[in-house]
Amino acid sequence: MSQDLLKLATETLKKAALNEEAKRFVLENEKLYTVLKKAANRYIGGETLVETVSSIRQLNNAGYGATTDYMGESVRSEKEANEATFEFIRLAQTIKSENLNSSISLDLSHIGLLVSRDLAKQNLQSICEQAAKCGQEVIISMEGTDRTDLILDVYAETLKTHPNVGITVQAYLHRTKDDFKDLLKLSGSIRIVKGAYETPAELSIPRGNDLDEIYLDYVQQLLAKNHRCAIASHDEKIHGQTIKLIDKYQPTAYVLERLLGICNDELQVYKDADYRCRIYVVYGKEWYLYLCNRWAEHPLNVFRGLADMVG
Ligand SMILES: Cc1cc2nc3c(=O)[nH]c(=O)nc-3n(C[C@H](O)[C@H](O)[C@H](O)COP(=O)(O)OP(=O)(O)OC[C@H]3O[C@@H](n4cnc5c(N)ncnc54)[C@H](O)[C@@H]3O)c2cc1C
Repeated sequence: MSQDLLKLATETLKKAALNEEAKRFVLENEKLYTVLKKAANRYIGGETLVETVSSIRQLNNAGYGATTDYMGESVRSEKEANEATFEFIRLAQTIKSENLNSSISLDLSHIGLLVSRDLAKQNLQSICEQAAKCGQEVIISMEGTDRTDLILDVYAETLKTHPNVGITVQAYLHRTKDDFKDLLKLSGSIRIVKGAYETPAELSIPRGNDLDEIYLDYVQQLLAKNHRCAIASHDEKIHGQTIKLIDKYQPTAYVLERLLGICNDELQVYKDADYRCRIYVVYGKEWYLYLCNRWAEHPLNVFRGLADMVG
């Protein structure tokens, strides 16, 4: 029964995330906006870059690295893609001028992938160029399976001229077994995640022990080679096993990574034990969608949200 309720909550929250009318209603209603924003604050660095600088600084002062993402995806106009690109360039410059420890993370569909492959490539390269001048890495997120080939392709081409670009791979996809072999031959850093998007059943492995084993096998390959990597998960089992592998292989180019506001207390234990830990910080005005997604992936978070809204 409770499983049915959780499933219903997930489906409802996913629908709420995509409901433009509900989103407009929340953002235009001052009281609703204020109350929901309190729940969103746990997960976002801020609505503006200025607010976000202060969040990153707090994390850095507490001993965490950061990677920062100006939130947005699936834009369909060249103008919006170029505006987002400009914001990422401003982000790179600000991280440098404020002397912060943060790389940049982004979705290619935020900077033009759905308009054209060339636009996304051109915008990515502009961001990478600026980030290189500022001593930062740019990590590409992985999106739905209809985009995987395109994203891997733009990544591999960009890496030829921009060694500071990295890629995210989703352990749950069957195809990753082959993609991973190719990616490991390249020098770019690799973030490994389980995978968040819905896929046709035949393309992916469901959550469970099999997926965990496969994920940890990728982790082992990365750590044994000391390949630059981020082990991105909120799963204590995954990070607990990763720690054992880090102790075994003594790599220097890894980082344990979690999203801001999700299971960060557990990460603190590893950070305090001197393992390299990084928090993924998102910022921007599109937090309504982001909040619904964080609640949908783990509906019990709604209770935390209620406490944040009331407290
Ligand atoms: C830094 C980072 C970057 C990411 N980038 C991408 C990307 O580019 N593409 C992509 O497809 N996915 C991305 N993801 C999401 C990822 O694919 C997973 O969907 C997400 O991390 C949940 O999977 P999990 O490994 O935490 O384990 P799961 O098997 O999903 O969960 C295991 C346990 O972790 C805890 N947990 C998981 N999620 C939550 C939560 N929201 N709140 C509270 N507890 C939770 C629970 O205890 C749960 O039982 C990213 C995740 C992180 C941390």
